[in-house]
Amino acid sequence: MQTIDGSYIYEFSSANKPINSVKLNETFSIKTLDCYGGQLKSESDLRADFPNLKINPATGPIYIENIEKGDTISIDIKRIELNDQGVMATGPDTGILGDYITESQTKILPITDGCALLNNQIKIPINKMIGVIGVAPEDHAIPCSTPDIHGGNMDTKDITEGSTLHLPVFHEGGLLALGDLHAAMGDGELDGTGIEIGGEVTLQIKKNDNFKLKTPIVETDTHFMVIASAEAFNDAVRQGMLNAISLLQHKHQIAFADAYRLLSAKGDLRISQLVNPKVTVRMALPKTVLVNL
Ligand code: CA
Ligand code: CA
Repeated sequence: MQTIDGSYIYEFSSANKPINSVKLNETFSIKTLDCYGGQLKSESDLRADFPNLKINPATGPIYIENIEKGDTISIDIKRIELNDQGVMATGPDTGILGDYITESQTKILPITDGCALLNNQIKIPINKMIGVIGVAPEDHAIPCSTPDIHGGNMDTKDITEGSTLHLPVFHEGGLLALGDLHAAMGDGELDGTGIEIGGEVTLQIKKNDNFKLKTPIVETDTHFMVIASAEAFNDAVRQGMLNAISLLQHKHQIAFADAYRLLSAKGDLRISQLVNPKVTVRMALPKTVLVNL
């Protein structure tokens, strides 16, 4: 199995030269650094001591053979293996309540027996996930810190082992990159970080010939979740709703108002993250109302 490692981007852009190529349906793996580039190794390494630290390295970009602009790819996330310790760096500027934090702190959380250890008493069960994953956007470069319709820093906890991420493609070969794994993160990413960690992700990419996608969708065993990001929360919600309604209209051949009613009856609006340059929500549609894409 091919393992891709050692080259990182800090913005998604069609100007980035691919470091490797993969075939459709090939199973391969990508090694990633944590969002701090692996620089915060102990609790004495404070984020403030690294003023020039480039955050959110994404391994790639990877050229996907036989993929063209306008295609839709479906990325099966087969496996996520985590390194043996995670890190959470908090300070006066981090997260929703950063103003309650008076000093910069680095917390190292060892991973053992399926848990991250906050201290000797509190074991946090891991929920592995990928924070940053995407393809080259249509025109401008977009920093890896920012989510948009190309993917990027979506920080959506359902992007995990066993899920499939469907993404639109804007350039030949797609130019996939990923990084920013989390050992655990709750909806919202409220203090500004997940349990940040490096690791290795095993993937398989398929081409979806049935559907032209406009925006990322993550598929779990039970749901299709339409992901939407915008600077303002309400704009992200409206965009997620409109894209979900358009999907329901297309699949069921129903009018907007009926799709709106169906969405309101069965769709769950969930917050992915509130702490990135754009916030991210997902409209979760159970497979009882949307069987396939
Ligand atoms: Ca992130
Ligand atoms: Ca992160």
